[in-house]
Amino acid sequence: MTQRKNAIVTGSTSGIGLGIATALAKKGMNVMLNGFGDTLVIEQIRKNLSDTYGVEVVYSAADMSCPQAIATMMEEALDTFGQIDVVVNNAGIQHVAPVDEFPTEKWDAIMSINLSSAFHTTKLALPGMKAQGWGRIINLASAHGLVASPYKSAYVAAKHGLVGFTKTVALEAAEQGITVNAICPGYVLTPLVEKQIPDTAQARGITEDEVKRDVLLKAQPTKKFVTVEQLGEMVVFLCGDAAASMTGAALPVDGGWTAQ
Ligand code: NAD
Repeated sequence: MTQRKNAIVTGSTSGIGLGIATALAKKGMNVMLNGFGDTLVIEQIRKNLSDTYGVEVVYSAADMSCPQAIATMMEEALDTFGQIDVVVNNAGIQHVAPVDEFPTEKWDAIMSINLSSAFHTTKLALPGMKAQGWGRIINLASAHGLVASPYKSAYVAAKHGLVGFTKTVALEAAEQGITVNAICPGYVLTPLVEKQIPDTAQARGITEDEVKRDVLLKAQPTKKFVTVEQLGEMVVFLCGDAAASMTGAALPVDGGWTAQ
């Protein structure tokens, strides 16, 4: 990368987002981290990325369910970096329950964090990207943005929505050097997945080991979890010149899951 670029990665204090932030920092980009967690641990992550890769790394605690907090985060990023080149909409949560028992407040939270936050960041980042004639928006959807599984109505609806949003913005920004893509990972063993194992076990009346073997990896022909490093490299690729003609795509990285 010839010119240092500036990236925001939402939900990057853990899991996939942290893997993506690390890959972008390694590639020489300045990064704004975002997400929840222990303040000292987050500061350690921030400092470690900055020291290791010699890039500027800042942190915003903005809650992705709150449009005003998102606006403040985007302003902070602009004030710090001068311009925003890459937005990775990664923050996401999950809740597993049959639809007739699905808590309404969980539905609303999943819609706002997993779907609407991408609308808010995109709306605020696009004018600057258009002005500079270059931008990358990468939305972390899911294999559940392409196919469904039972007991995940809100998540599947939000991720399908995110894929639709990706395609629409890709068309709107296509002539301005901006690409917009969705990555659709299969299962990655992050805290998000680890947390849903007990609920899935309860919903299906099976053990946690059986959930891993017979539910999660059953869907993945490779029988391997996708790694955060693989997803980080995918984002780096989408930011590069070789991917300039890829836009509006929903890209499965799912061990063959959605080929079935
Ligand atoms: P994770 O739970 O490890 O990390 C989620 C991150 O989002 C954390 O940094 C958390 O602090 C942050 N976050 C949660 N709520 C937030 C909020 N309201 N505001 C700001 N930040 C918030 O999860 P993960 O597995 O790394 O998932 C990251 C993304 O990838 C999600 O969108 C998820 O749906 C998607 N995904 C995950 C998998 C998987 O198997 N893990 C598969 C496909 C897609």
